[in-house]
Amino acid sequence: MATASRTLPLLLEPVEDETLLSFCRRLAARNEASLTCVLRTCGLVAERGPVVLAPEHSLVLEPPVLEAVTFATGITSDAASRLVLSRFRGAINPGDYPRGDPARLRHWGVRSGLLPAGSRLCPICVRQDGAFRLAWRFSWVYACPVHRVLLQATCPGCGRPYSCDAVVAPPLPSMVPVLGVCGNRQSRGQGRRGPHALACGHPLAGRPLGCGWTNSVACSERWPTWPTSRSWAR
Ligand SMILES: [Zn+2]
Ligand SMILES: [Zn+2]
Repeated sequence: MATASRTLPLLLEPVEDETLLSFCRRLAARNEASLTCVLRTCGLVAERGPVVLAPEHSLVLEPPVLEAVTFATGITSDAASRLVLSRFRGAINPGDYPRGDPARLRHWGVRSGLLPAGSRLCPICVRQDGAFRLAWRFSWVYACPVHRVLLQATCPGCGRPYSCDAVVAPPLPSMVPVLGVCGNRQSRGQGRRGPHALACGHPLAGRPLGCGWTNSVACSERWPTWPTSRSWAR
């Protein structure tokens, strides 16, 4: 792992605050390739066997991984480093995560304010660019300060958290990702498992729910601060 074999034919720039997996999904869609293909090209998963990401890849990119990702995607080391949660220093301390133990790492993530699984989303942000943001993985980020709407916690189609952005085992990695729809595996019927497994496919850009604060002063006082690298990075 962590050796990129080649550079992808069609390249993209990450969206501000985008997650590594979201970026890989958008690259896969752009190249009409499976997510597995892009993750392997980036050296993020093993060449053979199940597509399982190391959980720490959502936190930090160690030098060999960073080098492989930059080689495969053509983005700079700085841009690649901004795709993982270590950019939120102050909100999270990536220096003390438990290495090599996924179960302990998961508990550590929850104690650090991360959702136990999946991601929330802003329906307007994803309508614009299809990208999942790092901030949506924090349990205490519940609204989008850009569009002033509540984040959606679960997909109305399948009723589950959005796992398009699953940290460890993305659903249906052998498919070419379809952006803008829920990528969760269908929970019922023939599309549930096996070679005929299908994605939920419910549109991500649903009807947004406003914050409900009509008084502009109250709204500006109560509105959460978007935890971008600009506000958190040291
Ligand atoms: Zn938004
Ligand atoms: Zn769904």
